[in-house]
Amino acid sequence: MLLSDPITTIPLVGKSYANRLKKLDIETIEDLLHHYPFRYEDFSVKKKLNELIAGETVTVTATVLEIKNIYTRGGKRLTFATVADETGQLEVVWFNQPYITNTVKKNDSINLSGRLGEFSKKPTFVSPEYEKLGASSTIHTGRLVPVYPETRGVTSKWLRSRINAAIQPFNHLAIDEIEFLPNEIREQQDLIDLKSATNQIHFPEDMDQVEEARKRLGFDEFFLMQLQALKRRQEWQKRPLARKFKVQSSKFKIDAFVNSLPFELTDAQKRAVDEILKDLEKDVPMNRLLEGDVGSGKTVVAAVAIYAAHLNGLQSAIMAPTEILAEQHFRTISELLKPLGVSVALRTGARKSSILNPQFSILIGTHALLFDSVEFKNLGLVIIDEQHRFGVEQRAKLLKKTGDDTVPHLLTMTATPIPRSLALTAYGDLDISVLDEMPPGRKEVITWVVPNHKRQAAYNWIREQIKDDAQAFVICPLIEESEAETMQTVKAATVEFERLSKKVFPDLKLALLHGRIKSREKNEILADFKNGKYDILVSTQVVEVGIDVPTATLMIIEGGDRFGLASLHQLRGRVGRSTRQSYCLLFTESRSRKAHNRLKAMEELNDGFKLAEIDLKMRGPGEIYGVKQHGLMRLKIASLSDVKLIETTRNEAKGLLEEDPNLKHHLALKEKLTRMSGELVEPN
Ligand code: ADP
Ligand code: MG
Repeated sequence: MLLSDPITTIPLVGKSYANRLKKLDIETIEDLLHHYPFRYEDFSVKKKLNELIAGETVTVTATVLEIKNIYTRGGKRLTFATVADETGQLEVVWFNQPYITNTVKKNDSINLSGRLGEFSKKPTFVSPEYEKLGASSTIHTGRLVPVYPETRGVTSKWLRSRINAAIQPFNHLAIDEIEFLPNEIREQQDLIDLKSATNQIHFPEDMDQVEEARKRLGFDEFFLMQLQALKRRQEWQKRPLARKFKVQSSKFKIDAFVNSLPFELTDAQKRAVDEILKDLEKDVPMNRLLEGDVGSGKTVVAAVAIYAAHLNGLQSAIMAPTEILAEQHFRTISELLKPLGVSVALRTGARKSSILNPQFSILIGTHALLFDSVEFKNLGLVIIDEQHRFGVEQRAKLLKKTGDDTVPHLLTMTATPIPRSLALTAYGDLDISVLDEMPPGRKEVITWVVPNHKRQAAYNWIREQIKDDAQAFVICPLIEESEAETMQTVKAATVEFERLSKKVFPDLKLALLHGRIKSREKNEILADFKNGKYDILVSTQVVEVGIDVPTATLMIIEGGDRFGLASLHQLRGRVGRSTRQSYCLLFTESRSRKAHNRLKAMEELNDGFKLAEIDLKMRGPGEIYGVKQHGLMRLKIASLSDVKLIETTRNEAKGLLEEDPNLKHHLALKEKLTRMSGELVEPN
């Protein structure tokens, strides 16, 4: 047997079961063995029939005196049995499982695990787990019995029996054939071997064994994730750099540029600039993530890097997820760098007909940058804004614009706060610069959660504010939380727009914005809103990225409970850009206390990182960072809140790769990583 063998090599697992198991991400024997129980039924207490107490969960061993199916007039199917041991007799009943009589026959010796209850006023074992006694030890009764995550047509009982079938040949493998953790690490971290851990997690003798197994298997989860991240990093750094920068010789000009800015960089920005310039000077390609709340000033930092490229005679590219955002970058970068003689070009879908002057220093655009017609002479730096909105292929395609198999320096930017636990795992291959400080003078946005019964009062207050020259965004609820705007979402926004214009604010001027509106029209609407032609802009979350309307000081979010805190925080960042106090009103119709508490955090906190940590704790990584991303969802045992384990595994993984960078002396581990590489590892 090989661990990588398909699941169908296990007896009684055919095609249809294989299909069902796919839903549980089980395709190989190894996958099956890594399908861990989420709890255990304690059937370990054994009693004689005359010792039974009603309600107590026990296992009895008895002989079947009689067993039969009865069909009631109501269409119910009952299975009745009478069993006996040397101390007495007992009635047993099961509901709607007539097939039991196919396996359990008169005179059979069986185990029954369950509780003594009552049926037809008689003491009866009701729906116990049953298991015929044979040559091998029991798995469904008389012990700690594993309960598994199930799916349609795949019960825990079935999983238990097939895992048991797979574990027999598994146990015939030598420990060395199974183990992939180096002995030194196992000893250092006091971990049991993988063979024992696998047996103990499925069929433990006691809960101590479960704990030992969980410790080992949880360690594996992070350790392997760390190795993958570090390998990704290794592989990126091995790629030949397209063009080397000489930063030192242009340092003078770069300093002059920074000094000429109308403001002083924050300390965080200065740090980020230093880190980036240091990276640019190296022989290995940069892969750095610049992370900072909306308004923390990422663009200026990017501009410094672009200017450094320009001074080296090299081209840069910025790719942004939306046209609005690309155009905004274009304006900002032009303002900053054109006076210094940097030629700035824009390329979005809407403008693809225009001819590109190949002399540009920086090309800014949407995914339109990926078109074959877009060529670079000497691409030295690629910047991707909100990278998680692009696919892996799109990113790879942009990197290929160097024209050969070399790679440019890569800077990615995100306003999504990444908690430390994630930075150290899923994003472990990146260097990260954090802008954890806002430019001075920003007023915090005052946030209120508005329950349904205060809706009218809130609308009155909003009207007063607008009469006093404020402008408002109204963000419509998400139908489903996903990055993409759905047709349903667009419809919801349209309906809300109608309702607000006709019923709530007939005296005010409203406009509607969503992703299905043509981009020219969209820009017009935005420009008009900016010029004060509208009081209220009703929109889907498309405004989340990048629009800058300083006069808008009210942010109203419908269905606030349906957004993640990080998204809410980003949306809120759209206001608070003027000297006037800004407000964010979070409407919610949810009555759930949990949802309410989560939203309350928005009233209290203004720190994107803290909010992201709360989101991570309350909703898990899938909700925030995309379900499939980085195999985070594959964490079955280890917890992202276990920062200590994350650090330990990271250090062990680092130490190991320093000693043996290609894992030449750790072939089992190397093979394990290869087997895993099909399943996850999106490069960051
Ligand atoms: P981000 O992209 O991180 O959301 P931007 O780069 O768009 O933020 O910057 C937001 C605004 O803050 C811009 O108008 C920018 O000119 C301004 N800004 C950036 N850095 C500073 C600073 N250190 N001091 C004052 N204003 C700044
Ligand atoms: Mg920005």
